[in-house]
Formats: sequence, structure tokens, C-alpha cells
Amino acid sequence: MRRKSRILLCFAVLWVLGIAYYFYSGTTLSRKDDWNAVDSSNQAMAHINADDKTHSLETLPPGKVRWQDFDQDLYVGATVVRPGQDPYARNKFNQVESDKLRMDRGVPDTRHDHCRHKQYCELTRALAHSLTRTLSHSHTCTLSVLKKSPPHLVKEIILVDDYSDNPEDGALLGKIEKIRVLRNDRREGLMRSRVRGADAATAGVLTFLDSHCECNEHWLEPLLERVAEDKTRVVSPIIDVINMDNFQYVGASADLKGGFDWNLVFKWDYMTLEQRRARQGNPTAPIKTPMIAGGLFVMDKTYFELLGKYDMMMDVWGGENLEISFRVWQCGGSLEIIPCSRVGHVFRKQHPYTFPGGSGTVFARNTRRAAEVWMDEFKNFYYAAVPSARNVPYGNIQSRMEMKKRLGCQPFKWYLENVYPELRVPDHQDIAFGALQQGGNCLDTLGHFADGVVGVYECHNAGGNQEWALTKDKSVKHMDLCLTVVERTAGSQIKLQGCRENDSRQKWEQIESNSKLRHVGSNLCLDSHSARAGGLTVEVCSPNLNQQWKFTLNLQP
Ligand code: UDP
Ligand code: MN
Repeated sequence: MRRKSRILLCFAVLWVLGIAYYFYSGTTLSRKDDWNAVDSSNQAMAHINADDKTHSLETLPPGKVRWQDFDQDLYVGATVVRPGQDPYARNKFNQVESDKLRMDRGVPDTRHDHCRHKQYCELTRALAHSLTRTLSHSHTCTLSVLKKSPPHLVKEIILVDDYSDNPEDGALLGKIEKIRVLRNDRREGLMRSRVRGADAATAGVLTFLDSHCECNEHWLEPLLERVAEDKTRVVSPIIDVINMDNFQYVGASADLKGGFDWNLVFKWDYMTLEQRRARQGNPTAPIKTPMIAGGLFVMDKTYFELLGKYDMMMDVWGGENLEISFRVWQCGGSLEIIPCSRVGHVFRKQHPYTFPGGSGTVFARNTRRAAEVWMDEFKNFYYAAVPSARNVPYGNIQSRMEMKKRLGCQPFKWYLENVYPELRVPDHQDIAFGALQQGGNCLDTLGHFADGVVGVYECHNAGGNQEWALTKDKSVKHMDLCLTVVERTAGSQIKLQGCRENDSRQKWEQIESNSKLRHVGSNLCLDSHSARAGGLTVEVCSPNLNQQWKFTLNLQP
């Protein structure tokens, strides 16, 4: 019974598949031979009608070539990096290495063994695979989509050229079967570009992909299956890592979820021991995630539209994954990472494109728009973590607020309690909160309990032993343990002890613009110079860097 209904659902989705793809290139570069660097692209896909025979190979439209016949040597030859040119200049990844890759490049099948025996539904069972030639940036990605997907599941690939400086690139790629190129006549940024691709899609399910990706074995079927069963699911593959220097394909851990801290920057959270244990019994089960990375995901087209697509007033890059994640969860959907689906992505250290207005400002503006619409009063923790964001105007959010109301979405408190309980929320008793940082190091319990010493350890941004609060009653707390000055003399070691009300040995305050912690009773300062030799001490306050401490979040100015 269960199996039967699954097959029916699968059919339903197979009829609505198609692909949209867009790419962008920096507009500031002018050298002719740089034009190939349109790496920074996105792909969105929609999915098709299984009996849409017009796309079969025998009836290719005039001027189109099968993906197997795409002349990659010609494509790469026209864009080769000349001697003396910086191979990173245009894409911020190694273009020379990328151009060396050839079609038959195999990538390791990084899935869990159990995935290999999975069957998704009748229609996707038998897949014929021919090896393609994969090369650089956007067309590596495109060709790998065609190579690694059952043809009947891909109706079209829409490539959105976000006003790149060479329209020829799109023209070449547009010769490949199923690819449709849309070119913006001005820079729109990734949100509006994706929406343009999605609006143009003719199939019922959308897949968004960055340009610099490489799809792995059977990446598509497990994603589509989840959406076929329930169109309110928004699903991502595990994102494997393609090295930006040598283009090696490396499998990523399956024990990660997407998350963030109060600075609202996306990060990967390692699952708790409990969560990992629970997964051991069923390693192929979908992983609910509070946040998606944003570059690669599948979503039902009607649901995408119903839920408000993207915020069209966000620009360039950033914050949109936060916004769509809050929105999907709070408005009744869910986000999942599907471990049997693997897609590689080139993670770069820099953006290869310009940010009109400055990247910090654009990012803060987008993030503020997400926070103002979705986070209710919890947005204040963001402003406490990133005070400068307050000065960045975020424009009008009225239509997004109206939409939120119309959709009857849950408040952010609900999201915190039900979707992201791992995120520590400051207490109304707290003055400062989070990690207590000194450069790249953080105050750390080192796993000690009552009567143990404390030390510093490289900041890991994962809370745990590095999570502290300074409360209104002046204690510096980790859970119910407090920093205690046992002896009020310079050089004496600080201990962790159970918090006691009105114990002067546990009273601290921030001084000098919240840059130091002073023990109230002794006027001595928290100091790390003996961190390696036993543990933190209190010392006579001085300008020494060993006494500079900063909480992630200061809730009092
Ligand atoms: N992008 C775009 N227009 C822009 C900026 C970015 O179309 O103004 C696209 C870019 O082509 C890429 C995607 O957005 O495919 C995500 O950008 P990027 O890969 O730089 O972000 P990252 O993956 O590093 O977060
Ligand atoms: Mn990317």
C-alpha cells in the first residue's frame, strides 16, 4: 500500500521537471580573454513531463547539439588563461586547473553505501549513463547535470546571465540541448536573477544551482522523491567540496546541519552526539536542517510562488538563504538535507564580482531585511552582535510583512523552540552573552566542572564549553557554574564553582568599553598569560592584550 502510493506520487513529479540556470560575471573586467570567467552562475531547474517526446535526442531543435557533442575544446580554447595572467583573477578559483579537467573526469561516489541500493520509483530505476566531459565553471556544472540525471527528469536548464561582460559565453552554452539562456540587461543580483529563471520555468519543480558545481551519482532522484511526496519540503543535497586550487572532489561530512549564530552568518553545525547516534541506525534518512546553505536546492514551483519566491529588494548576494529558511519553516514547510544526494561546489575565499555599495553594506542590508521581517524582537540579539548593522538602511518591508500575515506564519519564538533548539538564546538576566573572545581564542571550560580551572582554546563558534553569560547580578556563568576568585591576590587561579547568590568572589563587571572583565571585590582583571601553565588567573589590571576580552553579544551599550 505504502509502496503503491509512493509510485503514484513519483509519477506526479516526473511530469513536472525542468531546469533553469543562470550565471553572472563581474562587470568590471574588460580583458577580452577574461570573458570565460562567468563562473559565478546559478542554475535553477524545473522538471518535466515524462512523455514529452519533443526533447528526445532524435528531434533536437535546429542549432542544438547533444550535450555529449558539445565542443569543449573550442569553448575552453576561446577563454584560455594566457601566460603571465593570474589564473585566479576572474573567478577567484584556479582557472588553469579548471580548464584542464576533461569530460571523463570521474568524481568519487561519496554517498553512504546504503544509498547505492536505493530505488526511488519505477520511472527512475533504470538509468543509462554515458560519461561526459566536464571542464570549467558554468559548463562543468551544466554538463554534469545532463550527465548525472535521468534525461526524462530534466525538462530544461535555464541559464540566467546576470549582465555578464560577455554575452557570447551564454550563446555558446545555449547551443547545448535543453539549455535556455536568459540575459539580464542590468545587474540584478542572485535573488532577482533566480526569480527570473523560476518565472520562466515551464515545469513544476525547480532546482537552483550555483554555476560552479558538479553533480554526483543519482543526485536528483532522492531530492525529487522527497518533494513528490510532500511539496512543502525544500530539499538540499549534501554539498561536497571541490578544491578551488586543484579541483579535487572531496566528500563532505554527513553529520552537519545548516545553522547560524546571532551575527546571522551561515555556518555548519556538527550534530550532537545524540543526533549522530540516532542517525547511525538509518544513515540515509533525511536530515532536518534549520537553515540551507542556499546555493543548491529543490523546491516545488507552485510552493515557491505561494511562499513569496525571494525578497526582490535584496541585492547581489547574501541573506537570502536566511530569509528563505525562516520563511519556509515559519510558514508551514520544512528544510531537509538528503544524504543520498551529493553535489560538489567550489567554495571560494572571495567573490569574483563587485558589490555596488560595498559588500559589508549589501550583506547587512539583506540580513536586516530578513531579520526585520522574520525575527520579531529577537532581531535585537542580531543588532547586539553586529551593532554597525543598525546604521544600514534596509528599505521598505511592508509587502513582505503583509505576505507573512497573509500566510499566517509562526513567530520566531516558535522557530527557535521547534526548529533550532540548539541555538542558545540570551536570558533576560543577561548583560552580555556568547563566546568570550581574545583574538582567535575563547574562554573555555576545557570540559572541567566544579573546582576545575578554566583556560582558553581556539574559538569554534559552536557554543558548548565556550558559552558564557555575564548576568545582571554580575556573575560570569557557564550553565550553573560561575567564574570564582578563590583568593583575592594577583596571580591566583580562577576556579569554576556552582553559582551562589551574593558571593563577592563571583562578582564581575565589564570595564573600559566592555573590553575587560574586572573582579569587583579585588579590582583585579581576568588574565590569560598563564593559560597554558595551569589556567586563567586574575592580575593587576593593565593594557596587556592578555586582559582583552570581548563577548559575542553585548546587550547593554
Ligand atoms: N550571483 C548572481 N548575481 C550576483 C551575485 C551572484 O547571479 O550579483 C550568483 C553567482 O553566479 C552564483 C550564486 O549567485 O552562482 C552564488 O554566488 P557565489 O557562488 O559567489 O556565493 P557562495 O557560493 O560563495 O556563497
Ligand atoms: Mn557558489
